[in-house]
Amino acid sequence: MSFEKLGLIKPLLDAISELGYEEPTTIQTRAIPLVLAKSDIFATAQTGTGKTAAFALPILQRLRKPSREEGVRAVILSPTRELSVQIHADIEAYAKHMDVKSYALLSGKDIEKQRTHLKKGVDILIATPGRLLEHVENGLSLKNVEVMVLDEADRMLDMGFTKDVRKIHPLLPKRHQTLLFSATFSDKVRKLSKLILTKPAFIETAKKNTTVETINQVAYLVDTDRKAELLAYLIGSRNFPQVLVFTRTKASADELVVELKKDGLKAGVIHGDKTKANRLKTLNQFKEGEFRVLVATDIASRGLDIEELPYVINYELPSIPEDYVHRVGRTGRAGRDGEAITLLDIYEKYDVRGIEKFIGEKIPQETVEGFEPDPTIRRKDVDELKLKAEHKNPHAKKERSYNKNTSKVPPTRKQQKAATKKRKTTKRD
Ligand code: AMP
Repeated sequence: MSFEKLGLIKPLLDAISELGYEEPTTIQTRAIPLVLAKSDIFATAQTGTGKTAAFALPILQRLRKPSREEGVRAVILSPTRELSVQIHADIEAYAKHMDVKSYALLSGKDIEKQRTHLKKGVDILIATPGRLLEHVENGLSLKNVEVMVLDEADRMLDMGFTKDVRKIHPLLPKRHQTLLFSATFSDKVRKLSKLILTKPAFIETAKKNTTVETINQVAYLVDTDRKAELLAYLIGSRNFPQVLVFTRTKASADELVVELKKDGLKAGVIHGDKTKANRLKTLNQFKEGEFRVLVATDIASRGLDIEELPYVINYELPSIPEDYVHRVGRTGRAGRDGEAITLLDIYEKYDVRGIEKFIGEKIPQETVEGFEPDPTIRRKDVDELKLKAEHKNPHAKKERSYNKNTSKVPPTRKQQKAATKKRKTTKRD
């Protein structure tokens, strides 16, 4: 499938080709024609699937003809400031050869300055529901809005924006198009969708909520400095034909490639310092079997169509739990069995709990013979952890301020209890 076949106009085709996009992603292939046909949509798609372009490109195409009415023509609701900034940047890039004005209403910025900007004329507004309503209260009209997008709707509702979205909806004209994008089919999203969508087309590009059922997940405990060795051992001893390995940073991706080479394994790398063209070339070489291992960082792998891989290895845990789902979702596609292996060092052993909470299941922790963690190795940040734990304990906080103010040694909890007991018994006597 090509972008041309999706019916996009030349200014958009030129912009995306300048960005190095060669082919539409799954969500783009499915959503763009529907949005162009003015259908409401309910799409489950996660960040990294190319969902921004899936709604932004057809919206820009729709807005290419000037409207007879004045005012905002498209509203994109996002849960966070950061996402608003990102969506705005993407839209600016896609609209490079068009005369469509977009603007992000960022919370925390001067509302008066934003009002002045709005008066100059804006076609597409990107905002969190709260900030948009503040402007509505200050006179912003939404009566000429043709399209509304709810991006990351599940996150937005979890963050408490349900009421605001419900307030915004009746401010739009009766005939408008609504596009809802959500990573999950949560009950809250489903409920809201019934209220704001009219005969929507459903697009499901990711499995419900989290990891794919056919994937076997396992975590191997290993010392930090033996991870590369264990990885090479796993690939060799289990005869993995092709494997995608994720690191958290660009530096560790580069270092790992060097280490793997020492073990005789040819590896390609894609990360943020590589150009888009270079990343695509490496990906194609990997697909064609020129090397067995592809090392990638989370951001670089987004939007890249890496499919049908039986094995994914998390060499390091991602910084955010959602990325674990994106990574693991690269395997076990279309009902195939896949295996996701995570290497956990002494630090990550605890961090993995955040991921387990997110995916709602435990990842079994095992060891590989010959690579068992050295029990004498202690965490280097143990003092920092102690301090953090103290912060969670209000009594510990009191003790610290007591120390600061009086420079006396505070009573322990046991001493405090004994003193209370003594006071009570003295009263009774
Ligand atoms: P998103 O899911 O919208 O956050 O997009 C993730 C990343 O994929 C962004 O960096 C986009 O620039 C990139 N991207 C979106 N569509 C494509 C495409 N068709 N080809 C290559 N990269 C893309």
